[in-house]
Amino acid sequence: MASERGIRNNGAAATPRSTPVPATDARPQVRPTTEGWQQKMGPDGRPVLQFAEPKRGKPPVHLADLTPAERVARVTELGLPGFRAKQLETHYFTHCTTDPARMTDLPAAQRDELVAGLLPPLLTEVRRLRTDNGDTIKFLWKLHDGALVESVLMRYPGRITLCVSSQAGCGMNCPFCATGQAGLTRNMSTAEIIDQVVQANAAIAAGELGGKKRGETTPERVSNIVFMGMGEPLANYNRVMDAVRTMVAPQPHGLGMSARHITVSTVGLVPAIEKLAAEKVPVTFALSLHAPDDELRDELIPVNSRWKVDEALDAARAYFDATGRRVSIEYALIKDMNDHAWRADLLAQKLIARGRGWVHVNPIPLNPTPGSIWTSSEPAVMREFVRRLEAAGIPTTLRDTRGKEIDGACGQLAAADGA
Ligand code: SAH
Repeated sequence: MASERGIRNNGAAATPRSTPVPATDARPQVRPTTEGWQQKMGPDGRPVLQFAEPKRGKPPVHLADLTPAERVARVTELGLPGFRAKQLETHYFTHCTTDPARMTDLPAAQRDELVAGLLPPLLTEVRRLRTDNGDTIKFLWKLHDGALVESVLMRYPGRITLCVSSQAGCGMNCPFCATGQAGLTRNMSTAEIIDQVVQANAAIAAGELGGKKRGETTPERVSNIVFMGMGEPLANYNRVMDAVRTMVAPQPHGLGMSARHITVSTVGLVPAIEKLAAEKVPVTFALSLHAPDDELRDELIPVNSRWKVDEALDAARAYFDATGRRVSIEYALIKDMNDHAWRADLLAQKLIARGRGWVHVNPIPLNPTPGSIWTSSEPAVMREFVRRLEAAGIPTTLRDTRGKEIDGACGQLAAADGA
């Protein structure tokens, strides 16, 4: 039904435009109009972009907000010996616990004080939903001020991936994404980001993530992180980078993960991409492109009004040059909107113009948000899109969408709806 409405919408769009559609591609051009909700517009008639967060109370300071030296200082401030910091770090990062009763290596009289001072509760579980035969769990968390965020845990052969949130809400206002529709509530703190991983590790250790195959040798911890939950990670740059540093810090000071197994995904904040390239942490970088032409991308990704397709692609290429890490281009395939053969060709052309071997493309079928008039591309159209990119020599992997039934799939993390 959605697709029929999508097609009918063509031509009836309020502002008809003249995207060139070659005669060989006779399918209609659907424009990104919204239905069932109102996209917030600024006085200039463009979708509002929120970079600064509204003023709100900060979450309590937590061990994961501090550097190892600051943790020792904090323990000392509490009048306790500094070496207790390392014991607390081990309990938190390695044993995934904040329960004083389990900290038997600490004097009973000091445990409550240490936990209250360094491990305050940050994420309160509201709901936990399972799907994909238990291979996928969606967590809905309430933060100290009532803001809601989600993370999604997924077992794949040989790896366990956690999709984390970096902001409560998002200010980037992309009309196809559920998170953007509510605007930005606030940035998450470093420890709120890290605690999603620690709590996921605790759930795995408790045997809650199903789907383990006989003989499977994957360590029972989160091995991969994708910053593809709620929020625009590069709009919360410092806290996200501090979280990444703690993820890769060896135990007991951090989670001991590999930077290459951490993916930072962005709408394309070019100055922040340049900053990221200069960090000494070679994370995997993903650019949410979704259209190779500015005319369509201006509407799909409102931040394109600041940094155009070519600037975002130049920054992605520069990321590869600085780190040697092949970058990912994310492309949600939306029926009759961005899935035309000529767009696959234009995308291939723009990528190859910047060299070979530096990039791969991840098309993903759109997950329509509730009330959306858009729908995912037809399978044959998706295959053709992929075929054209591959024929041009661009490695391309059609991504699957996990967690659809529990609204845990890409772009569907609308915590307010799930509460
Ligand atoms: N703000 C960041 C990360 C969050 S979203 C970014 O935009 O990259 C993670 C990915 O999911 C992005 O590529 C985003 O464009 C995509 N996405 C959002 N809504 C989607 C939807 N409804 N269907 C498919 N992918 C979607």
